[in-house]
Amino acid sequence: MFANDAPSRLTLDGAALVHNWQALRRLGGGAACGAAVKANGYGFGAAGVVERLARAGCRDFYVATWGEAAALADLVAKHDLSLSVLHGVRERDMAAARDLPARPVLNTVEQVARWRAAGGGACDVMIDTGMNRLGLAAQDTALLDGVGVETLMSHLACAEEASAMNGCQRAGLAALAGRTDARRLSLANSAGIALGPDYAFDLTRPGIALYGGVPCDALAIQIRPVAAIEAEVLQRRLVPAGATVGYNATWTASKDTPVIVINLGYADGFPRALGPAAVAMWEGAALPILGRVSMDLIALDARAASGIAEGDTVRFVIDLPAWAKAAGRSQYELLTGLGQRFERVWRD
Ligand SMILES: *Cc1c(COP(=O)(O)O)cnc(C)c1O
Repeated sequence: MFANDAPSRLTLDGAALVHNWQALRRLGGGAACGAAVKANGYGFGAAGVVERLARAGCRDFYVATWGEAAALADLVAKHDLSLSVLHGVRERDMAAARDLPARPVLNTVEQVARWRAAGGGACDVMIDTGMNRLGLAAQDTALLDGVGVETLMSHLACAEEASAMNGCQRAGLAALAGRTDARRLSLANSAGIALGPDYAFDLTRPGIALYGGVPCDALAIQIRPVAAIEAEVLQRRLVPAGATVGYNATWTASKDTPVIVINLGYADGFPRALGPAAVAMWEGAALPILGRVSMDLIALDARAASGIAEGDTVRFVIDLPAWAKAAGRSQYELLTGLGQRFERVWRD
């Protein structure tokens, strides 16, 4: 792969990423603010995210797997960061857990026993306070005596909604204060931070909002978009009045229309259902999508961009909440579905 020849780019705004982290940290009051960088930094590239947030002062990072932890080991050592592996530790992860500068988040009674039998050491522990996903039951904290628990954490099921479950889960974690030797308590993801200072405890764990996602309206004015798509014009053509564009001929020109075709499609994670919610920009001109999004190609109305030609670059700022709504997908799915053909390029 010739990097300079990557057909399309995902440009990532490092200043916006840091701005979002700082905004979330402020909202968390006195709590430390970490960062979820699982799934390769929600698709942006975990190393680029960790490097920038570490320089801004973020110390606590979360990945899902030991493979993801291994990919960050050098950066973690270089900046003396804390890295936790959310899926815990299976028997076959024990060597990685011993050798890498990362600790497991223990989720089950079996994992606690495995960790203790191997000599213990620093770990985090997930408590299930009602989501019934990963985690120990509250009464199992009795098993943690003498295990070196750094952070006792739980995870909110409905943080982006006004749900009675939020208060119940908060109370469930608060009731465990002092019941273990844990140094810190942690509950809030991005939307949890917006629920108020009671939810921040000692450490917050935002993910989606760092990357420009807006999981709840309260965060809308604080969070800036981070990613934009840049694609290239492969062809410019004049579509005569009465002719159609694209698969199933869903768009018909009412008059002669200049059209450009760009090298972007649903195989890049650009949702086929996006339609008018996404508008490409070129030198200040807006270029709406015409007809169907193909696997690798999109046609754009070039009436507002008379000078645009083959080889020029158009840009879509990824407005995650608007795109998710229009495409009927979640912001998380959209971000993590952005394809591998993009070259990821950080600006700052
Ligand atoms: C992914 C994850 C987060 C971050 O959640 P967002 O909704 O992306 O802010 C926090 N904590 C845990 C346990 C997670 O799995």
